[in-house]
Amino acid sequence: MPEKEVVNYEEGRPVFVMNETRTFPIRLSKIRIDDRFFNRYTKLVTKEIIPYQWKVLNDLEPEAEKSRCIANYRIAAGEEEGEFYGFVFQDSDLAKWLEAVAYSLSYEDNPELKKTADEAIALVERAQQKDGYLNTYFTVKEPGKQFTNLREGHELYCAGHMMEAAVAYYEVTGEDKLLKIMEKMADLIVKTFHEDKYKTAAPGHQEIEIGLVKMYRVTKKKEYLDMAKAFIDRRGTEPNYLVHEHEDPGWTDVFHNPDPFFPDYSQCDEPVRQQKTARGHAVREVYMLCAMADLAFYYRDEELFDACETLYDDIVNRQMYLTGGIGSSGLYERFTVDYDLPNDRNYSETCASIGLALFCRRMAEITGDTKYIETMETALYNTVLSGIGLDGKSFFYVNPMEVEPSHCLPHSSLQHVKSVRQKWFGCACCPPNIARTLASLGEYVCFTKENEVYLNLFLGCSFSVEFEGKKVDFTVETDMPYRGRTRIHVNNPENANGTLFLRIPSYAKKAELTDGENVVTLNPQKGYQKIEIKEKEHDLSLQFKMPAEYIYADPNVSANVGRVAVKKGPLVYCMEEADNGTGLSRFFVDTRISIVEDYDEDLFGGTMVITLAGEKLMPYEEEGSLYRTEMPRRKNAEARLIPYCLWGNRRTGEMLVWIRTNF
Ligand SMILES: [Zn+2]
Repeated sequence: MPEKEVVNYEEGRPVFVMNETRTFPIRLSKIRIDDRFFNRYTKLVTKEIIPYQWKVLNDLEPEAEKSRCIANYRIAAGEEEGEFYGFVFQDSDLAKWLEAVAYSLSYEDNPELKKTADEAIALVERAQQKDGYLNTYFTVKEPGKQFTNLREGHELYCAGHMMEAAVAYYEVTGEDKLLKIMEKMADLIVKTFHEDKYKTAAPGHQEIEIGLVKMYRVTKKKEYLDMAKAFIDRRGTEPNYLVHEHEDPGWTDVFHNPDPFFPDYSQCDEPVRQQKTARGHAVREVYMLCAMADLAFYYRDEELFDACETLYDDIVNRQMYLTGGIGSSGLYERFTVDYDLPNDRNYSETCASIGLALFCRRMAEITGDTKYIETMETALYNTVLSGIGLDGKSFFYVNPMEVEPSHCLPHSSLQHVKSVRQKWFGCACCPPNIARTLASLGEYVCFTKENEVYLNLFLGCSFSVEFEGKKVDFTVETDMPYRGRTRIHVNNPENANGTLFLRIPSYAKKAELTDGENVVTLNPQKGYQKIEIKEKEHDLSLQFKMPAEYIYADPNVSANVGRVAVKKGPLVYCMEEADNGTGLSRFFVDTRISIVEDYDEDLFGGTMVITLAGEKLMPYEEEGSLYRTEMPRRKNAEARLIPYCLWGNRRTGEMLVWIRTNF
């Protein structure tokens, strides 16, 4: 276990001060991932995921839900006749796809894919209006009505995603066509949102702030950064633009939602700096937090940073599922109140966990504190991976903690829960979001800073960095996430001096680190063990115990009273009908009996499986009254568990994370 952190205390609570300089994720061209656990996903990115999604965006996958995303761009460009189809944010699907393509091109040359992406970018340019405005919904369906419904319009959201794509594409290929397109849009946004009419306006769905910060990073145009900060600072302040905008006679109704707008849905019920609890639509909350963390760093804004820290603490300690899922209400895809974490009807959107991981990554970059890496890892390894099937072509939008397929009826309170991954969604935010996340996995693995490298996640990879201007190569081999054995070989031919910051996870027990023959005394700071690199070669070996453990929820979580879950290292485990038959909720685990761990070579290409012992409540032998005075019979039983991220890859059936216990 890492030693207790040294922190400053003020009024009884720790104060985490931002570092003077921040680390940045390693360039994807500098890292190669080759990992037994992750290859099943990362190898799919260019082979299956990106080509499949391109077909879907072009409506060439007959079994997938209609997208019309590319068709919308063509209609906006005046090259095809027709009506706009789909959600108002349909444009963002192409943006995320382009971002994923950009990342993939940084480690795999693919001229054919690049040509397709270049053609898509040319189409985006043709769909852009002369003044820089880019949004196919308003161009096709509501011409002249741009920015007349910021609450629902999603123009700024779509623009933010396309800016992220533009920056990624520019950084990887050196080509600035998409960047120039998005600079025109960014310039229009800066101009418009300083006009009198819009000077208190903020977007309904946060994301533009992230895009503008990234655009600032490559263009150095300070007005982009200032615009992002203004959008954050305007939220929830009076006069509250989002609350009153529909009173304007020029307002455009997009969603035709009869329910009145509730400002906390969009985190604009009070100024963000005063917000103490995560609220409203979960994706909006975490995308906002990403921007707040970046802006806190760029402006050295301790108050904004403090708000990030407060909201992080609320999410992680009171509103997050064990799997890193957030947003416990299916209705409005939202946070509710602290400790309200139902297992069967939660939303836990895949995108929300991606946003949480992105926020945590930024917080780790600016603080050098691995507590954020722990949360990032939890979200990535469980909920985000659960969002995609092993075929790379099926997806979960909603990530429940337990499922009884027959209960997930349309026109019921469980209609949002699916027991089978879907080919696509009418509202398709999640699949391309997973694609861009998997395509950029290397950015989560390592951070760099001058003469320093931070190793965050344990997966097989090789990467190179520069210490004192000289190239240093690292090769990582690991048995994670199943066993705590990791070896790192450092090749440093020019004897450069630098530092490796190696994360020692909080779940590591009896950790031992050796550098060649020498045992290194562990003294991690903020969870990172510092290792000086100076020799031509270093052979580092990190070993720790990581037994599967029972996890108990805070007793305030009423859904989990009398239940336990099983976690081993970063992975949460679950029961599935395929291994255990029906009636998973009738199994009671005896926590006094040791957990058995086995590696099954054949299942899913090799995975750890967990066996628990206990009893199973048996149905009454004779059918009859629903309610009886006779207690049901019990018999001895075992339960077999697989990693949560792998559930739903066999036949349809029940799934359960939180298991009953009465021992
Ligand atoms: Zn989504």
